[in-house]
Amino acid sequence: MKDDNCIFCKLANGDIPTRSIYEDETFRVFLDAAPATKGHALIVPKDHAANLYELPDETAGKALILAKKMAAHMTEKLGCDGFNVVQNNGEIAGQTVFHFHMHLIPRYKDDANMNRFVWNPTSPSDEELDAVQGLLK
Ligand code: 5GP
Ligand code: ZN
Repeated sequence: MKDDNCIFCKLANGDIPTRSIYEDETFRVFLDAAPATKGHALIVPKDHAANLYELPDETAGKALILAKKMAAHMTEKLGCDGFNVVQNNGEIAGQTVFHFHMHLIPRYKDDANMNRFVWNPTSPSDEELDAVQGLLK
């Protein structure tokens, strides 16, 4: 289902032209308009889902398989030195477009975003880690 107010629904379905690099019946992959690095692209499902929580299981499975395929293709064509796959859910997590998407970000030695995708490690106690494990398992 498409959402008439969603820009990614329009881009993924070809209602608005975009720099598409791959398309199948479920997804379009197109270049990010404000790329972190050369080749930064987005995997976008054609059906609207706001985020990972809303994404159907079948689409979720296909998305990771497509990410693997695109990573191989883009690495071969671009000659990048590494690759980030990034997926944000919710404003606090950096999501700005509320239609599920996966970022495909080729990484290059000395690229301008060298430290961009790194978080600050913390040092919780064993008790704190045990409590989280107890909560989640
Ligand atoms: P988010 O922050 O939601 O994870 O990522 C949204 C991404 O979509 C950003 O990297 C942004 O540059 C990209 N973006 C937003 N609007 C457009 C658009 O109209 N066209 C394209 N190609 N990319 C867009
Ligand atoms: Zn949408």
